[in-house]
Amino acid sequence: MIQTVELGTFLAFVGGLALVGLLGLQAWYDRRDALLSDHRRINSAFSCARCGLTYVRPRRREEATCPNCAWNNVRLKF
Ligand SMILES: [Zn+2]
Repeated sequence: MIQTVELGTFLAFVGGLALVGLLGLQAWYDRRDALLSDHRRINSAFSCARCGLTYVRPRRREEATCPNCAWNNVRLKF
């Protein structure tokens, strides 16, 4: 049972599918990029009160120990 379809209808269907696929991919990559850049952007900066070293730790956190002298410092707030 093969149903005949006009060429124009078939092309419109295939074109629509391709368009939906491309829009879906674009939305997916946009979301992925936003998540990745958020993850990279949210760092916490610290300045050691004991030895003066300035260092950065990934993610948002309030305290981190100094890699130089192991002093526990609070996050710098700008
Ligand atoms: Zn230190």
